[in-house]
Amino acid sequence: MGFGMSDMPLLSAILGELIFLVLLWTAWVSRREGEPQASVRLGLISITVLVVFLLPIFLPMGVGRWLATLLVLAVIVGALVFLFPFPGGGLIRLGEPVPGVDERDVMFSRATLVPGTERFDEYYRSHPHLRGPDDGFRAEPGLLSPDSAHFHREGFAAADAAFWTIELLRPFVEGGESGWEEGDPSESPTEKDGTPDQTATKLGGEVVREGAEKGRVSRDPAEMSRFLKEWTLKMGAHSVGITALRAHHLYTTVGRGPEYGSPVELDHTFAMALTVEMDKEMVDRAPKSPTAMESALQYLRGGVMAVQVADLIRRLGYSARAHVDGHYRVICPLVAKDAGLGEFGRMGLLMTPRLGPRVRIAVVTTNLPLSVDEPAPDPTVVDFCSRCKKCAECCPSRAISFEEPQEDGNGVLRWRIDHEACFTLWGRLGTDCARCMAVCPYSHPDNAMHSLVRWGIRRNALLRSAALAMDDALYGRRPQPREELEWMRFTESEAKLERKNTRE
Ligand code: SF4
Ligand code: SF4
Repeated sequence: MGFGMSDMPLLSAILGELIFLVLLWTAWVSRREGEPQASVRLGLISITVLVVFLLPIFLPMGVGRWLATLLVLAVIVGALVFLFPFPGGGLIRLGEPVPGVDERDVMFSRATLVPGTERFDEYYRSHPHLRGPDDGFRAEPGLLSPDSAHFHREGFAAADAAFWTIELLRPFVEGGESGWEEGDPSESPTEKDGTPDQTATKLGGEVVREGAEKGRVSRDPAEMSRFLKEWTLKMGAHSVGITALRAHHLYTTVGRGPEYGSPVELDHTFAMALTVEMDKEMVDRAPKSPTAMESALQYLRGGVMAVQVADLIRRLGYSARAHVDGHYRVICPLVAKDAGLGEFGRMGLLMTPRLGPRVRIAVVTTNLPLSVDEPAPDPTVVDFCSRCKKCAECCPSRAISFEEPQEDGNGVLRWRIDHEACFTLWGRLGTDCARCMAVCPYSHPDNAMHSLVRWGIRRNALLRSAALAMDDALYGRRPQPREELEWMRFTESEAKLERKNTRE
């Protein structure tokens, strides 16, 4: 008994039910993700699909067969498009950056300049064109300021506490025999801040001394790399990669901290980059305080991991430095890209394959021999960004370019970001905004549903356009920030009491 036109309505019905079940599953996943709009729309689409695919059974035989055939063909074409690679889409490679970035020129360094000081005058004498834009952000209340638009007393206190804790890591980023920077015992946290960690620090010193006496541990670089990566993932990192340390990874001059203005000297040969995930629930509240809390928390988590890995390496008899928030000697996203962890997107952040820009990065540099990962330049991300522009549309300060990537004067293509506009808005909001991160289609949770879409858009240019249209239809072209987290709401009476206590 062969398969003929007469069986088409039945086949259409079976396919319709299968697609209905898949779409129903996506609606359920969206509901669990806290995306009610996407969930409802997927539910409606699933019912519509079921009705359309069942329709041929109820239509007059001739019409029903033809409609069923068309529907079955549409499914076959859709499956072929999904399964077969079609890079297409004018894929662009951004190219390799050139060395020479002075950390004193980045916004975070310029924000530390204090009017009336010699450092301030000297900087703007040599950079007069930056004085106007920088005065603009200085006129705003500032990050985590009580006068800022999204001030949340507890939320800002939480973020501030995380940044304060990161500062406690500073003495440990380079190590030294006793666990803090050599040569300045007065700066040790044990003496200055009363950190109750003397035993552990002393023990650390003894182990390091013992290790140095016994000589360096010598291992196969591939095995050592595997060990470090697995341990870092065990600590909670989302992804880890290793690259040879290259000139363009390094700042030329220190722009923050006590060594401001010193040339960066780092004789390490390898760099290990790690990413940590930023919680989607928190990021979706951007630009309100949860996003600042989450940023600070993940900088801290990444920093703690990096400090531990650097210390571990030193205990094996090698030199290592952790690069954590505020204490960088390398440009972390460039290291992470060369370590194969992602590609740069329109918003200028590293786009990781599974979480997009929703990560924070820390780095460890060392002279421990390691085996390097292949960089994985991903022109499909660049192609998707060329079509998408969602971050540019949603950016409240218009800091993200709508144009194609431009040549930066050194033969490298990149999207220009108006850092001054972005940072000025941060000062007004009091948070690090992150609307761009929240709306990016690559930021969706790392689950089977979104992984399937990411897999498809990496392989097929047609799917990139389809996925973008679907993202707009389900989540909106300009998704709004989600409402305040329940546990961050306080009753009015408590707020009044709080204000009263503060005044007293
Ligand atoms: S929002 Fe769109 S254009 Fe912007 S980085 Fe994400 S994918 Fe690229
Ligand atoms: S953080 Fe906010 S202001 Fe800055 S680029 Fe992203 S959306 Fe624009």
